[in-house]
Amino acid sequence: MAGPRDRDQPLTIRPGGVVHSPPVSAVPVEHLDDLQAYAQAVAGCTRCRLAQGRTQVVFGSGSAHADLMFVGEAPGFHEDRQGVPFVGQAGKLLEQLLAGIGLSRQEVYIANTLKCRPPGNRDPQPDEIEACESHLFRQIELIEPTVVATLGNFATKLLSGRPLGITRVHGQEQQTTIGSRSVLLYPLYHPAAALYTPAMLKVLESDFARLPELLGRTPEPATALEPELALVAPQPPAEQLGLF
Ligand code: URA
Repeated sequence: MAGPRDRDQPLTIRPGGVVHSPPVSAVPVEHLDDLQAYAQAVAGCTRCRLAQGRTQVVFGSGSAHADLMFVGEAPGFHEDRQGVPFVGQAGKLLEQLLAGIGLSRQEVYIANTLKCRPPGNRDPQPDEIEACESHLFRQIELIEPTVVATLGNFATKLLSGRPLGITRVHGQEQQTTIGSRSVLLYPLYHPAAALYTPAMLKVLESDFARLPELLGRTPEPATALEPELALVAPQPPAEQLGLF
């Protein structure tokens, strides 16, 4: 499942929602090489103003062959320093939620909508999202996840191509096409928001608990993008407050 696996083999979900993946030896290495090469290329990115204030590009981390990929908002202070996404409190919550479905962060892939930290952890700006989006789309193409869980408004609006906020769409999976890939998009509340709102945490936990079922579904073949799913310019978040 969410770890490295032979993509021709079905996922195995054990009782309790624990997902089993076949041995690493079944996995071709080309994807890893391509992903690393792409990460190196992106390390020098100067497509937007965020290049000036960052310590480093935070490309992403985890399994290059993950079936489950998470997409958050943007690196914060600690992520910018360490070069790894979700290493702060929100990351700890994400790890706990993953442990609850029998997974570790090494078995999934974690990335962000923006690869560089916005100053003072302000919201991503539309032109920054536009400048960065092809990095995310390429990552998804290379990793080939079957499920992409978007964390919060920014990732959800970008990858769904719809302006609907996370409060409206959380927990509602949607088959969509990203690049040449058909993926099941699964919007979730952002863990940083859930940290401070117990009611939101409960919803996040119950949405999260459906991930093993979604990962167990047979992936659908890619279809042409429907006009209404075409990417739209990201809207400012309606319901989600600043996360940092
Ligand atoms: N850390 C990240 O890497 N991304 C977020 O969206 C929040 C915290």
